[in-house]
Amino acid sequence: MSKILRIGIAGAGVLGRLLAWRLSRAGHQVTVFDLASGPLGRGAAGWTAAGMLSPSAELECADLQVFRDGVDSIQMWEGIIHELPGAPDFDNHGSLLLAHRDDAGAAHRLVDLIARKAPDGYRPQALTPSALAELEPDIHGPSLAWLLPCEGAINPVQLMQALQEGARGVSWMWGQNVDEVQAGYLKSSGNRHDFDHVFDARGLGQRPANGPGSGCTEVRGVRGEIFLLQASDVNLARPIRVLHPRHRVYVVPRRDHHFIVGASEIESEDRSPVSLRTTVELLATAHSALPGLAEARLVHTETNLRPALRDNLPRIEQTPGLTRINGLFRHGWMIAPAMTVRAIQGAGISV
Ligand SMILES: Cc1cc2nc3c(=O)[nH]c(=O)nc-3n(C[C@H](O)[C@H](O)[C@H](O)COP(=O)(O)OP(=O)(O)OC[C@H]3O[C@@H](n4cnc5c(N)ncnc54)[C@H](O)[C@@H]3O)c2cc1C
Repeated sequence: MSKILRIGIAGAGVLGRLLAWRLSRAGHQVTVFDLASGPLGRGAAGWTAAGMLSPSAELECADLQVFRDGVDSIQMWEGIIHELPGAPDFDNHGSLLLAHRDDAGAAHRLVDLIARKAPDGYRPQALTPSALAELEPDIHGPSLAWLLPCEGAINPVQLMQALQEGARGVSWMWGQNVDEVQAGYLKSSGNRHDFDHVFDARGLGQRPANGPGSGCTEVRGVRGEIFLLQASDVNLARPIRVLHPRHRVYVVPRRDHHFIVGASEIESEDRSPVSLRTTVELLATAHSALPGLAEARLVHTETNLRPALRDNLPRIEQTPGLTRINGLFRHGWMIAPAMTVRAIQGAGISV
């Protein structure tokens, strides 16, 4: 039998919860520390995410490693979800890129970029208007459409809860400010806790409080705003992304005619409520593709910060006894399953 290890995890966002779930299933003794006051405390960026799993579309700003992690993770999510309580939603029927005729130039440039970077089978497939109408009868307005066949979506709020509830035997230490994470130990509220291996998954909180060696100096927050709408007359089977010269606006269907519209991407660590400008631009663009949203009710708005590194790419850093993961930026849910598997393997821990 493989050795049972004592493992500490700083941060209970998507990374911390997935690590805890995987490691506890393998029998390791896992303790997770987080600032939040309890399992439903909503500080983590993971709570706010739309849950798009879009490795091809993300090639706009990501590299091939992120793409591969995204493709692998979609497969992994399908398996993970079956083992979690509460049957969280998971969809992999593809997603759509849409553009209005006036925006054709910018849209074609982006679609060409994705087609150049993506391998066979993952490139955008142009749809005729009748093919689009057959797939999504409620879309009207955009005259250009492409199917990205291997994409999907999950519901992050459901999964944050399910991963925590499904991680049996884990000790959850809520309300704990971890101010130092080093090989074999972490410090929280002045107390030192020793482990065989420590994972630092604090996202933005990885900024070193106790000198450069105790965290990651370059992490920054990128503001994102999202909207939750309810529209009883609108049906959408898959996520859509409307290509606009100034911004990308996606609409992700949720249960019971709910829709997430997102997301702004602003170089600021401002967590204040959504701005008028973002509201007008995102909702008007969503409405231009789904006119049925005109009578939608605005149920909820939320702002959060994506943890990003200088190159906007994710990073795993490992030394014996310590793994730091960060920079999941705008694709944390999309790549976390594959990244956590690589991090656990890289640490030499058997699962
Ligand atoms: C508006 C928006 C939309 C998004 N949409 C998508 C999407 O559609 N698809 C996708 O894949 N990704 C999306 N993302 C990105 C995704 O949410 C992030 O990449 C992901 O949440 C990062 O995960 P993480 O675990 O690294 O960090 P987080 O989720 O931020 O978790 C970090 C955790 O560490 C804890 N912590 C921080 N400091 C400390 C400390 N000192 N001590 C103890 N605990 C600490 C925090 O409380 C938190 O729980 C979106 C993000 C935003 C904001």
